[in-house]
Amino acid sequence: MLDLQKHLQSHFGYPDFRYPQRQIIEKVLNNKSLFALMPTGAGKSLTYQFTSTLTQKNELVLVVSPLIALMQDQSTKARDFKISSTYINSSLSAEEKQKRMQSIAEGQYQLIFVAPERFQKPEFWECLKSRQIKLFVVDEAHCISLWGHDFRPDYTKLQQYRERLGSPPVLALTATATEDVQQDILKMFLLDKNQDLILGGIERPNLSLNIFECYGEAEKNDQLLELLKSSSDTAENSSGIIYFSLIQTLENCSRFLQSAKIPHLKYHGDLPANIRRRQQEDFLKNKTPLILATPAFGLGVDKPDIRFVIHYEIPSSIEAYFQEVGRAGRDGETASGQFLFSEDDLSIQMQFLNWAYPESEFIAKVYDLISSRPDVVSQQGFDFLREQMVFKNKKDFRVNAAVSILLRWGCLEENDTPFGYQSVREPQKEDFELEDQNTLKKEHQKKLLALLRFIQNDKVCRLKQIYQYFSHQIEEDCGICDVCR
Ligand code: ADP
Ligand code: MG
Repeated sequence: MLDLQKHLQSHFGYPDFRYPQRQIIEKVLNNKSLFALMPTGAGKSLTYQFTSTLTQKNELVLVVSPLIALMQDQSTKARDFKISSTYINSSLSAEEKQKRMQSIAEGQYQLIFVAPERFQKPEFWECLKSRQIKLFVVDEAHCISLWGHDFRPDYTKLQQYRERLGSPPVLALTATATEDVQQDILKMFLLDKNQDLILGGIERPNLSLNIFECYGEAEKNDQLLELLKSSSDTAENSSGIIYFSLIQTLENCSRFLQSAKIPHLKYHGDLPANIRRRQQEDFLKNKTPLILATPAFGLGVDKPDIRFVIHYEIPSSIEAYFQEVGRAGRDGETASGQFLFSEDDLSIQMQFLNWAYPESEFIAKVYDLISSRPDVVSQQGFDFLREQMVFKNKKDFRVNAAVSILLRWGCLEENDTPFGYQSVREPQKEDFELEDQNTLKKEHQKKLLALLRFIQNDKVCRLKQIYQYFSHQIEEDCGICDVCR
């Protein structure tokens, strides 16, 4: 019988497991399926990395993840532990993909990372034919559920794929799942709530959550300066993230900080990918400890010593808020979340919601334009599309929303034209049914309302309110949030 702890020490160099890593690994090694809910930074990756080091010849651990941008990093990290690992996704050239699939077919690799779209490709099934799947890992499993905050239609087919792979044990992992989402995950993989669910807790007792009600931008900026000053007073080079919903607000704030001579980095969708990457690296290496970012920043970013996260604008849900705040204090030391709330922002989010879930006809029309006018679209991209869809409101970003929906459905794929996308297949009735934009919009509105109730409830400990939202009970108040103090 293998001594798990010894193996952990010798192979990974960690003295001991964190709860509930051992429990998960023991089950998996007994070929049992399970769903584990563990907070961000708790060490979910170790559970499948560990399993992959115990694969027999020809066995492999297959990880499905929606986070294409992180796969390279995840696979490099695994290789640092001498795990033979790779990833296949749309960022690779056709040749490179081919090469990697060839190696998989030949029996190389213990651990591979793929996005769910990969299963739509016959070549991928072909290369797995000669391999035995020891464990089918579903990372960010909340993406299965329409009630989650990041629904991916491709995720709903994962159980089908798993069956086609001969029903290997599944390990579903996530950090954020409300009761509804948990139900969906259990149901999808035919798991039993009493036997196959491990709740690793979502507790983050070292986080001090604070809400500041502000009136207008000037007051926000004053508050911001004060927060930045007090954090640099407490610790030199203390590192932090400021989150924004809108790129425009981010840029305004950046100019303000510049005028106040506060050095900072920026990360958002309008910056070219190579610049974004460099900004992220500079932040991770602490060259500049402050970064202004949109929510895309931080997914899977593993920087243990972030001391504060500031929300300059209201996020879209409690899930999003807690995930973002949760990037602070992973080292277990005290860290803070500072939420600058202004009622005006609420209307921005409401409007945001309106544009984020366009009508079916709108999505279909955007697809038609992209597929019927590839020459113009590839060069003039969004400008052309917006012009054709004739709308005047500058903040109306339905075209962008439609493009990312089509991309998610696999109707578009990325390429290296100035526009960045090309048509693959027309959206079908099933696509529209599987992901009904109106249902999503309503769910999202409910989530925003729950967040608003959280902001306004200054009677109950902040952390307790969040735990309650995730159906998680605790006895004691945190003692360090604005309500407790
Ligand atoms: P998440 O649960 O958010 O996916 P990760 O798997 O990225 O978290 O792990 C976060 C960090 O915790 C990593 O840097 C990893 O090396 C570290 N870690 C994981 N397990 C242990 C352990 N048993 N002891 C010490 N550090 C660990
Ligand atoms: Mg993870």
